[in-house]
Amino acid sequence: MNLPIYMDNHSTTRVDPGVVEEMIPYFTVHFGNAASRNHSFGWDADKAVEVGRERLAKIIHADPKEIIFTSGATESNNLALKGVAEMYAEKGDHIITQVTEHRSVLDTAKRLEKSGIRVTYLPVDREGLVDPEEVRKAITDRTILISIMLVNNEIGVIQPVEEIGKIAKERGVLFHCDATQGVGKVKVDVQAMGIDLLSFTAHKLYGPKGIGALYVRRKNPRVRLAPMMDGGGHERGMRSGTLNVPGIVGFGKACEIAMEVMDEEAARLLRLRERLRSGLMGALEEVYLNGHPAKRMPGNLNLSFAYVEGESMLMGLREVALSSGSACTSATLEPSYVLQALGIGIELAHSSVRFGLGRFNTEKEVDYVIGRVIETVNRLREMSPLYEMVKAGVDLKQVKWRKD
Ligand SMILES: *Cc1c(COP(=O)(O)O)cnc(C)c1O
Repeated sequence: MNLPIYMDNHSTTRVDPGVVEEMIPYFTVHFGNAASRNHSFGWDADKAVEVGRERLAKIIHADPKEIIFTSGATESNNLALKGVAEMYAEKGDHIITQVTEHRSVLDTAKRLEKSGIRVTYLPVDREGLVDPEEVRKAITDRTILISIMLVNNEIGVIQPVEEIGKIAKERGVLFHCDATQGVGKVKVDVQAMGIDLLSFTAHKLYGPKGIGALYVRRKNPRVRLAPMMDGGGHERGMRSGTLNVPGIVGFGKACEIAMEVMDEEAARLLRLRERLRSGLMGALEEVYLNGHPAKRMPGNLNLSFAYVEGESMLMGLREVALSSGSACTSATLEPSYVLQALGIGIELAHSSVRFGLGRFNTEKEVDYVIGRVIETVNRLREMSPLYEMVKAGVDLKQVKWRKD
């Protein structure tokens, strides 16, 4: 076993060796511009792009023509929300989303609010799930888009996307789904799920960074988008810019591998995650699971270790790559907005650690991490006056703290 151990697979993943291998010739030999129509360099690049497009379409049950390449899921989310808001401005001005979406959806929604769009941010329950009935109730005759993610990037919960898709169809409202954490890990089917727009990105499924896609439905209904980027009219005019051919080749290969191994990998990761969970929860008291226990993707474990700061824990565990809260918010000391939305309280939100298991993690690594986390939590708790008081039988809720 080698150190450091990478267990932060929701932030990004290692590129699969099979993906790298397939990409290399597209830097060195077939380096053409896919838009060049007059020579074989261009034709080869274009052919590779179309193979990639087919592979992406297959993993989400779409048609290749419905795949628009972008620079990543952040751009896909921006394009979906802003593109619909602008294109359907005459139809309405209301968008429905929910509070635990990725920043790239929430911040885009906030930006749209500044230009007069009204946004409903639905709450989640204690386990992180949106109630589809709340979605139904929020729809008005001015609603043009519902944007609800498939798998949450912090707590791994799987939203009831199929039910929401059904409601969106019934009411004739477009449905966008940020499926970035779901594609390649859980089954995604834009037909069965009633999805009109779907964002995903290569680097969360063992592909390269900087290449993403937006699925844009072409019939029942045909979705139109105002482009964010003006230029050569690539990607059906929705996203101009020279295509990242090696990236697309890698993204396609990553999808192909994911489809092949998905069932087996999910079962293996579930076993590893349960080993990690029971190993930690069996040895330590006052450890709480964040997010629904069953409706979550296999590789995710998000735990709060009461009386221990998540940040301090990671500091004591430098040879293991983990995340406290979301990687995107860990630059600030704000506790994760996702965990706060579950109503678990600020203390437990600060005590959370996200374990993100992936393709390259082994049982040995899991056992090592169990041992080191137990050691670290015990050590930190020994230094915690609060924990001392609890151990001595003091009910912290009854304590009157002095304000000064
Ligand atoms: C990582 C992530 C994104 C952003 O993807 P990039 O390709 O890094 O821009 C968006 N949504 C979710 C749920 C993510 O996990």
